Amino acid sequence: MFNEYLKDIKTYEAGKPIELVVREFGIEPQNVVKLASNENPLGCSPRVKEAIAKNTHLASLYPDDSMYELKEALSKRFGVNEKNIIIGAGSDQILEFISHIKLNRTSKILRSAVTFAMYDIYAKQFGAQIVTTPSYRHIASEFIEKINAQNPDIIYICTPNNPTGDASKKEDVLAIIEAAPKESLVVVDCAYMEYVEDKAYKLEPKDFLNYDNVIYLGTFSKAYGLGGMRVGYGIANENIINMLYKVRPPFNITSLSLLAAVEASKDEAFVQKSVALNRQEMHRYIEFAKKNGLEFIESSTNFITYLFDEKHDSSKIANSLMRQGIIIRDLASYALNAVRITIGTKEQNDKLFEVLAKEI
Ligand SMILES: *Cc1c(COP(=O)(O)O)cnc(C)c1O
Repeated sequence: MFNEYLKDIKTYEAGKPIELVVREFGIEPQNVVKLASNENPLGCSPRVKEAIAKNTHLASLYPDDSMYELKEALSKRFGVNEKNIIIGAGSDQILEFISHIKLNRTSKILRSAVTFAMYDIYAKQFGAQIVTTPSYRHIASEFIEKINAQNPDIIYICTPNNPTGDASKKEDVLAIIEAAPKESLVVVDCAYMEYVEDKAYKLEPKDFLNYDNVIYLGTFSKAYGLGGMRVGYGIANENIINMLYKVRPPFNITSLSLLAAVEASKDEAFVQKSVALNRQEMHRYIEFAKKNGLEFIESSTNFITYLFDEKHDSSKIANSLMRQGIIIRDLASYALNAVRITIGTKEQNDKLFEVLAKEI
């Protein structure tokens, strides 16, 4: 009765919302600490809130479908032409567009063993086959080997990678791109690139504009703190962008989302402040791991992944924390005995350390 491809899809399990913990465990919403979805603990720029408050009339109006101002802001920020940009309802929607222009039931996608879950969900919707490298890290030689053996239609490079937090060197990303067949599309998903400070790992959209088959993805959901507004972007050569436009529905982000992203773009200081807080608190997470004998993955993002030994069970720990009002992400569904914790404010992190220390 339904599309047969859907049988094989596991519904995306989003980070648990605060409302669920309030409902199930009777904890006051202000006492719930949510460190599960890599949101910015500082919220967003005050400029955004002010602009939304002043422009509520926009709720009744369709957005400017050319998204001119936002494209202009991105074009200045990245030194690219407006024609090289497409905006989506989160970069998630761009992933969907990409799947539409590339995939059918004879296609293959290639990804690392542990990466963003949406790549598979979109691939399966089109009946495409999923090929993975052996390692959860992005190892260029593993990618190249699979490219040569499998000739994938889409190659996903997620850097820094979610849910592991490790980043790929620019030279390794370029090596994978060079090995990719011309007919394939290489998607460089950079949702956390604002947090990357080491130059060898820092990627920019214009690094890839000379390639006919590469697209850079970014988002306002993480460092810019606009997860609730759903704004992401893809940057690539005009040919790819024109194809993506064929599958884009009109008015695909809201008027207020557009306004929010434009305003957020004017406040780079907020992003810098967020990145600085993250760096400072990340140190404390590393110290905590060392002090408690926990293994962790070196992270270039606003989250850290703690790996447990066989004495501990990630699902049990995540559930126990949830009952105490702290939401973190269990990675059991990625076949890892690990949890992913978003770096919060100092106070949120203090609470997490206090509660987690008793579990391990
Ligand atoms: C959060 C995230 C996205 C998408 O976020 P949107 O809110 O849809 O922009 C894409 N890729 C990765 C790896 C992410 O972690």
